Amino acid sequence: MELMNSPQKLNILVIMAHHDDAAFACGGTLAKWAEQGYDIYMISVTSSDIGTLRSDIPSEELREICEKELLAANEIIGIKETIFLRYPDGGFIDGAKLREQLIFYVRKLKADRIVTLDPWQPYEVHPDHVIVGKMAAEAGAFSAFPLLHQKHLNKGLIPQECSEVWFMGTLGHAPNCYVDISSTLEKKVSHILQFESTFTLLSELFAPDIDPRNVGSIELKQLKKLARRLLNSLALTFGKKVNLKAAEAFYVQKTLPGHFDNFIQMTQEMLGNTPEPPKIC
Ligand SMILES: [Zn+2]
Repeated sequence: MELMNSPQKLNILVIMAHHDDAAFACGGTLAKWAEQGYDIYMISVTSSDIGTLRSDIPSEELREICEKELLAANEIIGIKETIFLRYPDGGFIDGAKLREQLIFYVRKLKADRIVTLDPWQPYEVHPDHVIVGKMAAEAGAFSAFPLLHQKHLNKGLIPQECSEVWFMGTLGHAPNCYVDISSTLEKKVSHILQFESTFTLLSELFAPDIDPRNVGSIELKQLKKLARRLLNSLALTFGKKVNLKAAEAFYVQKTLPGHFDNFIQMTQEMLGNTPEPPKIC
């Protein structure tokens, strides 16, 4: 599988369900691509406004906090523009409506590559992750059809062939692509540390002794320290798999109109050839 790794300038569209979805899995990669001069856009589909265990914070206030956190974090890693679609958080997304909007943005931003959640990973319980990942993948594969959503074309847009969809994380298909983030790991950590609302929610992961409903400044400082350690060890663990100091992992699919280009790999396997090993992209 030949990926688009040329020095040409790429337009990259990151499509996430919630404000913090990209941070842990691909913040280092996005920072690296921004440093390489690629234009990176991020769509945050929902308002992220149920993501807390506190009951003393109204949804509207949480939405504002999350949007501020994401803008501050994205500035650190060089995201060119952050787009908020503000769908309700927690499983109420109209898939067809979202897909049309995503196709619109793929065309408008002339996206060459989409980065998104893997909707086919087993035991994915969050309905927003499933529908957003699926609609993002479909947007990548369907934006090239000129007869689909012709109203976009009436607005001056043209069909767009988005060549690749990168699924982040490693809980789904085995990764076929690792990105060296040794030079941007520190940026990734600074990026993630902006998501204070997430740390309180995930405190069980970092520090089970801290009550997520009652996090003060001392506890937050402690959580950030533990999160930094966790992130470094995560990057190191992925890096070890491909002899890098620090890495992030992806499952990348090349697109054809209406399809993923699965056939090359499948044909090779049918012929009895060894499947391609993961690459450093
Ligand atoms: Zn999420």
